[in-house]
Amino acid sequence: MTRAKMPIVSGAGSSGDPHHQFGFSFDQRRCTGCKTCEMACRDYHDLGTGPAFRTVHEYAGGTWIQNDEGAWEHDVFAFYVSMSCNHCTNPVCLRFCASDAIAKDDFGFVRVDAARCTGCQVCALSCPYHAPRFSEASAHIEKCDGCFDRVAAGLGPICVEACPQRALDFGIYDDIADHPLMVERVATMPDPVITQPNYAIEPCEAALRAADAVALQNLGEI
Ligand code: SF4
Ligand code: SF4
Ligand code: SF4
Repeated sequence: MTRAKMPIVSGAGSSGDPHHQFGFSFDQRRCTGCKTCEMACRDYHDLGTGPAFRTVHEYAGGTWIQNDEGAWEHDVFAFYVSMSCNHCTNPVCLRFCASDAIAKDDFGFVRVDAARCTGCQVCALSCPYHAPRFSEASAHIEKCDGCFDRVAAGLGPICVEACPQRALDFGIYDDIADHPLMVERVATMPDPVITQPNYAIEPCEAALRAADAVALQNLGEI
């Protein structure tokens, strides 16, 4: 089914030129796991204590081993992934929504039309990143909208601007992802082939070493 694109708000500035696919990049080597990005989004979008649009995933692994001389050594590590909706090129959430409530706008943002959403949650079940969240308060799905109103005004998303480490970046995805070290998956994240996320990660050393031998530590928070 072909669906109309959602309109954008007027006044797109030079850094918010529409008709491109916009996306995020994340320099994992800079992230301290402080969750300022998550809190800034929660505050800007007035989410209260409901589901967050951006969450910081904490991964850790490794163990202590006693060497031949009886001394204890460890290879313990930890790293973070700050994740929102990835405004995928192949958004399975959109494909599975029977109410035509999800559409891609001119920035490539995948947005939910609250007036059409019936709250069936099929999109939430289909998204491998668990980005669409059911809000008890509104009785429909809510998720990251890319801060499209700010982007249309030539500003950056609030999460990106709030990061004290400048670990998050935002822009035309082909430009920000064009770096030999960028990957679209670390640790136990889903295979990017499924949805083609517009989210590029510059991985830290620990994430490169850990591969899949790592456990998500804060599942209850995300
Ligand atoms: S991350 Fe999930 S909700 Fe966001 S566009 Fe991709 S499939 Fe849809
Ligand atoms: S782009 Fe906006 S809505 Fe999306 S996670 Fe960042 S602050 Fe939240
Ligand atoms: S605000 Fe920046 S440093 Fe803090 S958790 Fe988010 S991405 Fe990491």
